[in-house]
Amino acid sequence: MSTEKSRFPRPPFDQQPQQFPGLASAMHPLPDHGEKSYQGRERLVGKKALITGGDSGIGRAVAIAYAREGADVAINYLPAEESDAQEVIALIRAEGRKAVAIPGDITHEDFCKTLVERAVSELGGLDILVNNAGHQQFCESISELTTESFDATFKTNVYAPFWITRAAVAHLGEGAAIINTSSVQAFKPSDILLDYAQTKACNVAFTKALAKQLGPKGIRVNAVAPGPYWTPLQVCGGQPQEKVAHFGEEAPLGRPGQPVEIAPLYVTLAADENSFASGQVWCSDGGTGTA
Ligand code: NAD
Ligand code: MG
Repeated sequence: MSTEKSRFPRPPFDQQPQQFPGLASAMHPLPDHGEKSYQGRERLVGKKALITGGDSGIGRAVAIAYAREGADVAINYLPAEESDAQEVIALIRAEGRKAVAIPGDITHEDFCKTLVERAVSELGGLDILVNNAGHQQFCESISELTTESFDATFKTNVYAPFWITRAAVAHLGEGAAIINTSSVQAFKPSDILLDYAQTKACNVAFTKALAKQLGPKGIRVNAVAPGPYWTPLQVCGGQPQEKVAHFGEEAPLGRPGQPVEIAPLYVTLAADENSFASGQVWCSDGGTGTA
């Protein structure tokens, strides 16, 4: 049996710049989304889930886990990520679950409405919404941070979850779950992620306020706050390449997390047995103890 130290890759890694939004298939080492290892335990049988950013990284690991737990899954992603997305669609179908691919840019309000309508009509309803897509581009100085870049980060990370959730709420019933992907950046912001860190703090406030609003309807709202995870987001401008080479080294576990290692939190937060957990932020950061 592999030990913790040998099971997952440790830094140093090769520098490997990619253009945004990047592809998981072009990363080395390849991220582990649980393709070979995630074992379902029938925790989401019959549920219908929409996951944004479901083509790669954390969203892909959640999509695989949800399908293996018995859910039908719709994923959203950018058209440039079609090849990553098709791998996920095939993995969901291999479990005998319905898989719906809905490419499109969530920085547009109209598309967000269309996305939810298509997911609901093609899945035949909606029980779980995972707001996971994210935009992260590092910038050394506030003097160089352009309004366009600031806007793209806020549109993707703050406006889109608002637009998508507002459209989805009309279709969610008692027992439904919303899960937002925040970040340790909400609590310990890096100097080079001035705009991104703010958006991730927004995700926390959104989660806590919405949990109060939707609690009376029996809908739970939670957030997951990842620490360093090995995904395209980080290699396509999320971090400088020198930091990519040493990504995760500062975590007490001495390495970045692999997406498969965080998927169980999203399963737990969506599952019926966790019926009193709402308004929570669950961190997974390799021992730093951020929140
Ligand atoms: P990822 O690159 O695999 O996933 C991000 C996804 O966001 C992309 O696959 C893309 O499909 C989607 N996206 C971005 N802009 C979009 C747009 N305009 N329209 C539609 N989709 C768009 O990287 P990831 O790390 O798995 O990111 C998932 C979430 O995790 C993000 O919210 C990110 O902020 C968060 N997060 C990641 C880390 C980490 O270390 N990787 C740490 C904390 C939080
Ligand atoms: Mg992607």
